[in-house]
Amino acid sequence: MSKRHLSDQQKRHIQQRRAQEADNVALRTGLVVAHHGKQVLVEDTQTAERHPCTFRQTLGGVVTGDRVRWQDNPGGKGTVEFVEPRVSVLIRPDTLGKPRMMAANIDQVLITLSPVPEPNPSVIDRAIVATLDLPAHPILLVNKVDLLDAAGREQMRDFLREWTDIGISALELSASTGEGLDTLKGMLDGHESLFVGLSGVGKSSIVRALLPEGSEVAVGAISEHSLEGRHTTRTSTLYHLPSGGDVVDAPGIRDFGVWEMTPEAVLRGFAEIQEAAQDCRFANCTHRMEPGCAVKQAVEDGRISERRYQSYLDLMEMALSKHWEG
Ligand code: GDP
Ligand code: ZN
Repeated sequence: MSKRHLSDQQKRHIQQRRAQEADNVALRTGLVVAHHGKQVLVEDTQTAERHPCTFRQTLGGVVTGDRVRWQDNPGGKGTVEFVEPRVSVLIRPDTLGKPRMMAANIDQVLITLSPVPEPNPSVIDRAIVATLDLPAHPILLVNKVDLLDAAGREQMRDFLREWTDIGISALELSASTGEGLDTLKGMLDGHESLFVGLSGVGKSSIVRALLPEGSEVAVGAISEHSLEGRHTTRTSTLYHLPSGGDVVDAPGIRDFGVWEMTPEAVLRGFAEIQEAAQDCRFANCTHRMEPGCAVKQAVEDGRISERRYQSYLDLMEMALSKHWEG
């Protein structure tokens, strides 16, 4: 049993004890809507008021999206006493390469693309792998369809077929004309969603179209509330959508550029390869040069796209060489 495992178990134990204590000492429930270092902004479930809070070291970090129980301290900062179990944690290496929690409980990732800037298929593959690894549900969001004529739309659908064929849904949208916006609202309702995609595809425009007039998208709630009296760039902020659901804006992870991934996650992101691999002669086939490889056969037969196959090999190699122990 590794040290990390032990300490996780200990942490869980401490948290369970705290949960019981929390039931005894009438703590308030809340949602973390922004975090920065050792401080968080907690929105009280009952009053919807926002309170700057600190948290105990033993909690091992509290981040945007966390559901918490906290103690009010009139005239001072509150204290987060307990974090509810998370459905997911978004982790990204910080500037020193150390994994850092960016947001909790994201259950849906909108992988946003547009005709301009031109989409990069391997970036999309990578975003899907990272989303499934969270774990969260990936959706392809095709913005700026107002720029496409009928033939252009058909071409875009052909481009997306590599993913829609393996069951990932794609929504055509225009933040400019409002096309698809109601369908998108329906998809976001009841979820905590994150928008990712290349710079310029229209993520901010979409979020702006979803929020009421005058909502600040670019400025984090932390700096508005001047928790530490200065602007922060890497802070994640949670916004409630009037149509239902929440959106988390995490500026540091809007593009999945430096995302680390595990080999298992890569496999999950390539359902067609995983399926074909069941017929490989060797159970541990890497689908490179082994005889009797059903994946290579499927590529030759045109049942799996050559591009997806290459992308799979590239991502798998990256995952096997750079995978952190973490
Ligand atoms: P972000 O970098 O992904 O947040 O992208 P922005 O929201 O800043 O948008 C980049 C550019 O695309 C801006 O000039 C927007 O006005 C434009 N844009 C955003 N959505 C649409 C759209 O649906 N149609 C068109 N034609 N332009 C859009
Ligand atoms: Zn194989």
